[in-house]
Amino acid sequence: MVRLTEQEVSAMVKDLCRLINPKFITTSLLERINSATDYRISELKRENLPYVVVRPGSADEVSKLMAYASSRKIPVFVRGSGTCLKGSATYPFPGIVLRTSRLSDFKIYQNYGFFECGPGLRVLYVADELAKEGCFLPMYPGSRRIASVGGIISNNTSGHIVDSSVGKIRDYILGLQVVLPTGEILEMGTKSLRRAAGTDLTQYFVGGDGLLGVITNIRVRLVPAFKSAYGVAFFDSVPPLVKAVQRMYFERIPPPLFMELLDSRCAEIGFRLKELPLPPGPVLMFRAIGETEEIASYKVERLVETIQKEKPIECKRVVDMEYWDKVWSAREVIGSYIQRERKAFSANTEVVSTVANLLDCYTDCEEFQKGIPILEEVGKPYLFGHIGALTFHPGMYVPIAWPSEKKMRALEAVMRKEAQLNLKYGTCGGEWGQFSRRSDFDRQRYGEKTIQLVRAIKGVFDPNNILNPSILPEE
Ligand SMILES: Cc1cc2nc3c(=O)[nH]c(=O)nc-3n(C[C@H](O)[C@H](O)[C@H](O)COP(=O)(O)OP(=O)(O)OC[C@H]3O[C@@H](n4cnc5c(N)ncnc54)[C@H](O)[C@@H]3O)c2cc1C
Repeated sequence: MVRLTEQEVSAMVKDLCRLINPKFITTSLLERINSATDYRISELKRENLPYVVVRPGSADEVSKLMAYASSRKIPVFVRGSGTCLKGSATYPFPGIVLRTSRLSDFKIYQNYGFFECGPGLRVLYVADELAKEGCFLPMYPGSRRIASVGGIISNNTSGHIVDSSVGKIRDYILGLQVVLPTGEILEMGTKSLRRAAGTDLTQYFVGGDGLLGVITNIRVRLVPAFKSAYGVAFFDSVPPLVKAVQRMYFERIPPPLFMELLDSRCAEIGFRLKELPLPPGPVLMFRAIGETEEIASYKVERLVETIQKEKPIECKRVVDMEYWDKVWSAREVIGSYIQRERKAFSANTEVVSTVANLLDCYTDCEEFQKGIPILEEVGKPYLFGHIGALTFHPGMYVPIAWPSEKKMRALEAVMRKEAQLNLKYGTCGGEWGQFSRRSDFDRQRYGEKTIQLVRAIKGVFDPNNILNPSILPEE
């Protein structure tokens, strides 16, 4: 990548101020640091910090910015909230950071049955607005208070949601507006609830890892809010809990919207913090949904029956919403508590299992650190995850006090182990997208040819390779 001199940077900033309202262009050191870090430990070097951070307010401004950057071959890094954990929100060389926070229009089109929103809106905001109209947003990441809708769509993640319950966000997108790296604005998809058959370009951008274009407007089908029913199960050990989840799939019980696992250590922490009676061992919590109360109740009762066949200490439907809210939030407070208590940063991973291998995969995750000296030093993982979605998050907490170089080595070891396990089970990450720190995994899992193809597709959309150029591995 060509590096600009100080004079060239000043000239570029002046040019940008002619294209975009200067109020939304900054070279402040703090903002440049803030716009180049993610929630992992990262090696920030002054010479690699972004030159400038720009917050365009419309597709037209994005278009001008991209055309300008493309003509001068200046890298542009698109940034929602920077919470993506696979490394695409940190940059190994300087460029322009395009923050999407001002692309924040929101409108519900009741007569058409969809809503449109800008990519910079936070997930929770959109979910709350839709809830006021009796609708449900099929995205629920743990990061929903901060993650942007554009980031979620670029990763095609639905967060905690069990894929086999309501699918992934891709299934709900009716259309997108995208600015190509060369500056052209594309309108894709349909205004109908009948989606395109055959080639539908929107699908290149949903789950496109931010490689092909900047998403500037999103049209999503309105999904009526569901009725919910809840349940919790306590086990004395993990194997029967895992078998209960497998049984749900083998016996074709309708999968719930959420089904979360806490190992006994995590359960103890979460329940204590929420002042709940301490659980006797690992915990399974689930939320079933249906069009009516009766359907949701029926589904949760079937889950309870199925889980009981594996002889938990207790498995029950939860009707006391105050209790349920505490149980659910017990899951949400664990990560930040461990980080604080252990003075450590989280190097969690995403290990995905098949239904058939769920127990073996759990055992591998339990021994995540085994045989890897630097991870042995970190210690045994805290285990929780979206077990209904076959995902474990072995939580490795790396001491903040370690020197940066050692912390980076630990993070790399964690990513290698994640890759090894996903290779072993023939799976792949279902949440944070591909490439970046996952490039070695992609190469081993799908072969060099696949990366070459993705590179070739990127070349068609982005001939000067300026958009998020650090996500794909070097040739
Ligand atoms: C505490 C915590 C909990 C989390 N929990 C979950 C979870 O439960 N489930 C889950 O799936 N993930 C989870 N994540 C990961 C993360 O929140 C998701 O990956 C989310 O999709 C990232 O959104 P973002 O706005 O931060 O995107 P960013 O990190 O800013 O961007 C992600 C990628 O998308 C690209 N991009 C962003 N906006 C656009 C756009 N408008 N056009 C084109 N490309 C774009 C970026 O260039 C980048 O490559 C968690 C993260 C944290 C820190």
